[in-house]
Amino acid sequence: MNPKLLFWVPAALRLALLLAGAGVVWWMAGPVAGLALALATTIVLLFVQLSYLFRLGEWLDHPHSSRLPDGWGAWTEVFARLYRLRRDDERNQDQLTEWLARFRQAMQLLPEGVAIMDDVLLLEWCNPATERHLGLTLEKDKGRRVTNLVRHPEFIDYIILGRYEQPLTLSLRGRKLVVQIIPFENRRQILVTHDATETDRIEAMRRDFIANASHELRTPLTVIVGFLEIAMADPGLDERTRTAHLTLMTEQAERMQRLIEDMLTLSRLESDEYPLKRERVDVAWLVEGIANDARALSGGRHLVEVKVDGPDIMGSPDELRSAFGNLASNAVRYTPAGGTIRLTWQRGPNDLRFEVCDTGIGIDEQHISRLTERFYRVDKSRSRETQGTGLGLAIVKHVLLRHGGKLSIRSTPGKGSAFTVSLPNTTLPG
Ligand code: ADP
Repeated sequence: MNPKLLFWVPAALRLALLLAGAGVVWWMAGPVAGLALALATTIVLLFVQLSYLFRLGEWLDHPHSSRLPDGWGAWTEVFARLYRLRRDDERNQDQLTEWLARFRQAMQLLPEGVAIMDDVLLLEWCNPATERHLGLTLEKDKGRRVTNLVRHPEFIDYIILGRYEQPLTLSLRGRKLVVQIIPFENRRQILVTHDATETDRIEAMRRDFIANASHELRTPLTVIVGFLEIAMADPGLDERTRTAHLTLMTEQAERMQRLIEDMLTLSRLESDEYPLKRERVDVAWLVEGIANDARALSGGRHLVEVKVDGPDIMGSPDELRSAFGNLASNAVRYTPAGGTIRLTWQRGPNDLRFEVCDTGIGIDEQHISRLTERFYRVDKSRSRETQGTGLGLAIVKHVLLRHGGKLSIRSTPGKGSAFTVSLPNTTLPG
């Protein structure tokens, strides 16, 4: 039925009944009785309506705490509808609260900072990343002007100029931040902050690596090109000079080859395309082989000792050979003739250890934390003289990262160094 009729039909019926009753009384007991009955019934009905109106008013004052009356006549429908409205409203409220909780949780986890400000830049709300990035505390700083909270001249200029289509890069509290303001609604603005410190560092490392690698390759190439030019300009060079030039050119070409091989090794170690393939590694045999290589490199100028007391492990034999071999060859190259080099493989308290100790030139404390950086050398000319590429310890570091191990370095300048590789103790059967 049409909802409007629901109101009007019962009301009209009730009125008709009242008039009919009054008419019957009028007809049976005279007009005074009929009118008196009509008046009395009207007053009762009016009183009933007023009492429901009063209860409605009371309910409107406290819609959620008091119960809706059941009602009578048209009021039944009014109250039923109000009840449905309140139920829908409560359901919407619950959904909204749940949505808001989810939104808050997502904002808590977001690595980007998001802050909402009004049209005059008063902070209304921000997530924890913004607090971290800009050094704010929402509780304390809510309602304060953002330009008073972030007192950075470039940030203030950015706001004054209002060129919000471009983000702004800032150095703030030792971090590199990218910030952007996005106007939204009519009178609000969102401030988005992104911490670019790590990407910036990686980008700087990449730039440095390319610059260093180009420099390292250019030096031998310049030598080779120089000799080639001499040979072209003077075809009649005597045999001795020609041989000397060819020897130097071969040395430089070999240097370039070593460099490129090390660079390729490093890039393979870092790449996800070459995951570590573990197999059983007979470390005793591996260390003996490395000791023999070290003896060959030393050419009898050092005493190379070996002590092997540790078990086999699971790992990549090629990678471990490359890492351990780099440490042993460094020991030979940075130890003057007559020195001793000791290679040890043994169990540690909670780990397995490969250690290379030498009685060489040693390393000043200030360099130790930087030795595994690519192309970092304490003494550039000594490294080159001894055919170093400057990538050996970087390779060691990456191999160990892949094997869950770590490298520690102790050294005393003028006395010698100890490079210790610590690998997880995963006991193998047999
Ligand atoms: P390089 O090819 O120059 O030897 P590495 O990455 O292997 O490059 O080593 C980095 C630097 O660490 C070397 O240039 C050298 O200065 C220092 N170094 C490495 N091993 C030793 C060692 N056993 N004794 C003294 N200095 C060392």
